Amino acid sequence: MSDKPIARASILDIAAYKPGKSKSPSGQSLAKLSANESPLGASPKAMEAYRYYADRLAEYPDGGATALRQAIGDVHGLDPDRIGVGAGSDEILHLLAQAYVGPGDETVMSQYGFLVYPIVTNAAGGTCIKAPETELKADVDALLDAVTEKTKIVFLANPNNPTGSYLSVDEINRLHQGLRSDILLVLDAAYAEYVDAADYQAGIELVDRAQNVVMTRTFSKIGLANLRVGWFYGPAHILDVYNRLRGPFNVNGIAQAAAEAAVRDVDFTAELKAHNAKMRDLLVRELQSNRFKTYPSQCNFVLTEFADERGFTAADAFNLLMEKGLIVREMHSYGLPNCLRISIGTEAQMKLVIQTLQEMSDHG
Ligand SMILES: *Cc1c(COP(=O)(O)O)cnc(C)c1O
Repeated sequence: MSDKPIARASILDIAAYKPGKSKSPSGQSLAKLSANESPLGASPKAMEAYRYYADRLAEYPDGGATALRQAIGDVHGLDPDRIGVGAGSDEILHLLAQAYVGPGDETVMSQYGFLVYPIVTNAAGGTCIKAPETELKADVDALLDAVTEKTKIVFLANPNNPTGSYLSVDEINRLHQGLRSDILLVLDAAYAEYVDAADYQAGIELVDRAQNVVMTRTFSKIGLANLRVGWFYGPAHILDVYNRLRGPFNVNGIAQAAAEAAVRDVDFTAELKAHNAKMRDLLVRELQSNRFKTYPSQCNFVLTEFADERGFTAADAFNLLMEKGLIVREMHSYGLPNCLRISIGTEAQMKLVIQTLQEMSDHG
């Protein structure tokens, strides 16, 4: 007998998720280009809704999130009964794993996929298997090869964080066709609002014609990261399971009201997308060189690979950017130690990133 309570072994195997830093070692606050937040803040309409609800803190929220699901349904053309909401899409990923994965089961993710998938798998008692990638892009054949009789969920971020790469609708369909019908395919479309590739689909069409696919989305990357709201679209039988499992008031009322206003503010979302595309193009164009291999991105960040050469490493670049008051995301925990992930910020911040890295390159 132990002298204290001991958590299950699969929980103790979890490497706690480390969010991007926001302060320098000396405690100075920095412009945060490490968390893929909105550089234009939140929709003014969402802020107004938030302020209005500040007077109603004593009330329980609508546990069914009716108005929010209706708004998402209106804007995206979806049946609100097949939409579920959660405290960030993180909560949705956790609950899906709890519902469909148990001890001895497996999930599959891509090698450089989002690091929350192994956490939610372990939390449910399962094991997450990583399928190798080619050129920092998910590989459908490798994902299918990683499936075993124990597989319960395949998690795919499309487009992916931290690589920025995506799979086309044809590749997603081929992945889905190769999966047994009892395996759940979770398409995590956290960055769907930023994609402009013509051959991309977030997953709505596939959810509509399959019984084993859900598409997850989030408000975090479009201005509401602090409020923790995510949603998913799936078949009715999965919504039924989700609604049994979730906390009865899992998304607070202020977050529901602000998210409802935000999703209806399609002009703000369009403005954010246009700003992002312009700055992302600029960053990729200016950084693309032998010294800084910058990967094409469909997201609100770019991944840049640095040389393994003194003075030009990712750590050197990280420190120089920090001296200029900018903090970007180091990639050790993703197994990409030579890379930095740089969130798209304001125009002034992007110019400072470009200038700093060019100076570093010139001094070589
Ligand atoms: C940011 C992110 C999420 C989760 O966001 P929430 O803030 O929990 O809604 C999910 N998936 C990917 C790939 C992300 O980058």
